[in-house]
Amino acid sequence: MISFSFSDLADLLYPKACVLCDKIPEPMNKEEKERFRYFGVCPSCTWENFRAKSRAVDAAPAPLTEVFRGRSMFTYDEEIRDAVLRFKYEGMKENGIYFARWMMEDASLKAWVKEAQALVPIPLSAHRLKTRGYNQALEFCKELSRLTDVPVRQLLARREDTKALKTLSKTERQRSVEQAFMLDAAAAAAFRTEGAGTVVLVDDIATTFATLKACRSVLLEKMPDLEVRYLTFSARESDEIS
Ligand SMILES: [Zn+2]
Repeated sequence: MISFSFSDLADLLYPKACVLCDKIPEPMNKEEKERFRYFGVCPSCTWENFRAKSRAVDAAPAPLTEVFRGRSMFTYDEEIRDAVLRFKYEGMKENGIYFARWMMEDASLKAWVKEAQALVPIPLSAHRLKTRGYNQALEFCKELSRLTDVPVRQLLARREDTKALKTLSKTERQRSVEQAFMLDAAAAAAFRTEGAGTVVLVDDIATTFATLKACRSVLLEKMPDLEVRYLTFSARESDEIS
């Protein structure tokens, strides 16, 4: 019997279209094909050009960086936004694999991730998970884990959304986000017995950091000694909640 590991499956995946321009590339040579297969970026977009845009920086607002350190790789410009939207809303689940690969090409960022004992995806509500079919943060985490050997731990759960965020005022939205997360008791209990010191919260995008801050608080409430970091694919300066 042939058994495939996740890693084999990831290698077999072939991008349907370029992650960035959403086009099917012209016939490619062998090297271009290999790069397209690994990064999901076509020869016209070229990974090298694109890479110049990346910046693994701490995007958190100034007061927060004192206590909550992290890295975001891309500014949420039009090109990145389109790739993220296809990832979240158009079923391009495999974009998470490419995003993780792009990020882990940065050796210092990879070393920084490897210092942690767990990657913790920001959870979706059960309702959202059902309609979307996957949690994009978890998909992104799985490939990060494969590339760094840091395990994925789903330590957090999300309460059902009671009201659509759009109908709420800014203060109400903030409160709603603060109360949206809880600890997954079983996963946390198993994790705590290992005496781990550092975890990385993982999400596709950071906007206000309200979500990341809320998740950090939930983890620290029960595990005050934990160092909680964050890693997001993109970041934007805006008070909108995605
Ligand atoms: Zn392209």
